[in-house]
Amino acid sequence: MGFLFDSFEGWKKYSDTNKVSLVQAVIDYEIEQKGRTEERIWEGLGQAWEVMKDAVQTGLVEDMTSRSGMINNGAKKVYNHKVTVLSKEFQNLISRALAAKEVNSCMGRIVAAPTAGASGIMPGVLYTLQEIHDVPDKKILEAMLLAAGIVLIMEQKASIAGAVGGCQAETGTAAAMGSGAIVYCLDGDTTQVFNAVAITIQCMLGLVCDPVAGLVEIPCVVRNASAAAIANSSAQIALANVSSVIPVDEVVEAMGEIGSSMETRYKETALGGLAATKTGKAISKRVLIRDIEILPDES
Ligand code: SF4
Repeated sequence: MGFLFDSFEGWKKYSDTNKVSLVQAVIDYEIEQKGRTEERIWEGLGQAWEVMKDAVQTGLVEDMTSRSGMINNGAKKVYNHKVTVLSKEFQNLISRALAAKEVNSCMGRIVAAPTAGASGIMPGVLYTLQEIHDVPDKKILEAMLLAAGIVLIMEQKASIAGAVGGCQAETGTAAAMGSGAIVYCLDGDTTQVFNAVAITIQCMLGLVCDPVAGLVEIPCVVRNASAAAIANSSAQIALANVSSVIPVDEVVEAMGEIGSSMETRYKETALGGLAATKTGKAISKRVLIRDIEILPDES
């Protein structure tokens, strides 16, 4: 097996030629190129799934106030609010994505999927999907492997880091993983999975990385919620056999092209966008002064 995950087309070709599923192709890759045993792969996935669920629950129960004060128990407020915009399921989805990401902003334990900044999306999506559709744990773990295949390709063809490709690369990739996972769990075929990924990325293209005060809090936490919503809307569209028109590999290449032409101030430097607003700068100054004040006096 050469390096398999450099394109979606190549992934499908391997799968068709060897008469294996997309998920089995990821397992083959992990065994052959990472030297892992199949038993260890499932064990690691099971552990990751437990951490994801734990992050959702922690964020909805424990105090989630970040050191900067910018994050202040938003997930719980959303979860318990009596007005539901669409349905209780949608409210749960949004609050769970917020919850797991708030745990990260408050220095708790999360799964970087694919990064810490985007760590609320997969937990919010998978937790809610399992609850609504009674998806067995084994299928959830398979969907996580499928998502791993998606992220391997996106890392190769574009980027998964905000510092390299903007927020489209972080929350956009996580949303693509989530939509592919949803379609897989709801028995979509390869075309539908790839359409879901392509449609999701089309909705996330161009998103800049502009964290206020350089902290992964604002706008990161709310972007996890919107990315979880986009993962679901894209899956809904793809499952109905609506085409992305632009093939998934080309969509990912477009993401890479946009990322490489994005100005540095939109790549996690906290020099542009929301970070450069009047309020963003004032928060940054306050956080910096407070951090200097709590530095140990070495005189
Ligand atoms: S704004 Fe930047 S730091 Fe925040 S989630 Fe997006 S890529 Fe990550």
